[in-house]
Amino acid sequence: METKQFHFQLAPTSWLTMVRQLFAKYELDTANAGITYTLDIVPKQGEDLLLTVDPDRIEQVYANIIYNAIKFSQSGGFIDVRVEIRDEPCELLIRVTDTGVGISEEDLPHIFERFYKVSKSRSNSGGSGLGLAIAKEIVQYHGGQIWAESRLGKGCSISFSLPLHRV
Ligand code: ADP
Repeated sequence: METKQFHFQLAPTSWLTMVRQLFAKYELDTANAGITYTLDIVPKQGEDLLLTVDPDRIEQVYANIIYNAIKFSQSGGFIDVRVEIRDEPCELLIRVTDTGVGISEEDLPHIFERFYKVSKSRSNSGGSGLGLAIAKEIVQYHGGQIWAESRLGKGCSISFSLPLHRV
């Protein structure tokens, strides 16, 4: 992305269709991990609102969050995806909450940095430490934000927002 070799193909997209498709794609992976995976779409209106996104890049963001949630959870855990619409600015909010190992106060401010990984002894995840840094760049490119809330031993929530507009 830094060398501008990363191309985005933006297209007007229904947020509701996108959310349902993203959720459905990871039902099998979560089920195989023994995790209860739920979708909670809060808005009862606003179906006509659109996102202008590159759907493949947004899937990359979502997949990274879900795979981390699976990786840092145990069988028997829960992953809940909650979807809201915020006003002023009008934006879609997707929050993925897991019941996994969580992140310490000390590590939390750094997880969106490149190559950052929490000490091996605890996570032993084998990841690159790049996933969330790339996710942040993708979300910011779309005009949104991404952030995390967590406590060690108490699970983790990763949220991201994307601007919405009228048809
Ligand atoms: P990796 O490829 O190592 O998973 P990421 O950039 O995706 O890299 O994540 C950075 C670090 O943030 C992870 O190594 C892990 O320590 C922490 N992390 C991310 N998501 C979670 C989660 N859901 N639960 C606990 N820790 C997490």
